[in-house]
Amino acid sequence: MEWLVSMPKVELHAHLNGSIRDSTLLELARVLGEKGVIVFSDVEHVIRKDDRSLVEVFKLFDLIHILTTDHKTVTRITKEVVEDFAAENVVYLELRTTPKRNDSKGMSKRSYMEAVVEGLRAVTTVDIDFLPHKLDARASANSSSANHSSHETKRKKIYVRLLLSIDRRETTEAAMETVKLALEMRDLGVVGIDLSGNPIVGEWRTFLPALKFAQEQGLYTTLHCGEVPNHEEIRSMLDFQPQRIGHACCFDEEEWRKLKSSKIPVEICLTSNIRTDTISSIDIHHFVDLYNVNHPLVLCTDDSGVFATSLSKEYKLASSSFGLGKREMFELARTGVEFIFADDGVKQELREIFNSAAKKLE
Ligand code: 5GP
Repeated sequence: MEWLVSMPKVELHAHLNGSIRDSTLLELARVLGEKGVIVFSDVEHVIRKDDRSLVEVFKLFDLIHILTTDHKTVTRITKEVVEDFAAENVVYLELRTTPKRNDSKGMSKRSYMEAVVEGLRAVTTVDIDFLPHKLDARASANSSSANHSSHETKRKKIYVRLLLSIDRRETTEAAMETVKLALEMRDLGVVGIDLSGNPIVGEWRTFLPALKFAQEQGLYTTLHCGEVPNHEEIRSMLDFQPQRIGHACCFDEEEWRKLKSSKIPVEICLTSNIRTDTISSIDIHHFVDLYNVNHPLVLCTDDSGVFATSLSKEYKLASSSFGLGKREMFELARTGVEFIFADDGVKQELREIFNSAAKKLE
């Protein structure tokens, strides 16, 4: 496990509110319990439980959103989540979150996202690079000098970029609002759009206008695809040609063929798929087939808090379940760099990080 922790890794599928430390959730629940907003003893076991069906997961998210949706807390959890990923040598994190409006807290989708960005600024345990290089030459210069010094002083550095999620409960207008916000926040590190939320809720066509607009405007898109066997939706999502998809669990033969010929990279979340029973057992996970045909893949956590996992644990699970050694796991992590949504400058810097780590493997 030690080498999997120390190896550089990229995380491309992590939901902010799914990645909160249990200790933070319990602390927030206790405070709301004291204020009489919730009954702490009712929610404590829900937070502590770590095997949940897909339906229970979405119930838990409703609870988490009650606990976290004020600006100060959003800033706090963002900072903690980034620091936790950096602590296990994630060198590039694409963090996704659903911008939320909460009138009772004076929160708009924009102010929610500003609180997230505040969280990025608040990161202290590592150097963080979250602004696009081409728009911020100084940040770029700083980041390359930080690169040098990080080599000399061994201070860690993490690149973070943001994806805004559209929740499947939303309307076309609300989805469009999220895409417009993403466009306005490009200079603050927003690089793309994700479609997520309970897969049995909502219709794909509701979100299509907003997703098409996002693509036309040059935002990257990734879709939660095939968490349930909705074949019309899966085919239509593949026709849309997003830059990546998440999960890809319930595909039929025709959809596998379509996916493989499309070469769309798949964000694989092993623990999440097993815990939610989307895949009945690890030995029949589609990772194996996709890996064997060399389909673009990246291992991800999905919700490290909700599923009590970490990216190192996901690598360990893949390594032990599928018999992959040190070199293969390293190459798997390294290829993830090719599927990131950040600009080419970041890609190049990450390639260099992996190149120098590769020398230590030999
Ligand atoms: P947030 O966007 O609030 O930061 O993160 C939690 C949200 O991400 C959930 O409410 C849900 O919309 C989405 N999410 C997290 N995990 C999953 C998952 O496994 N599948 C799907 N479809 N959506 C998820």
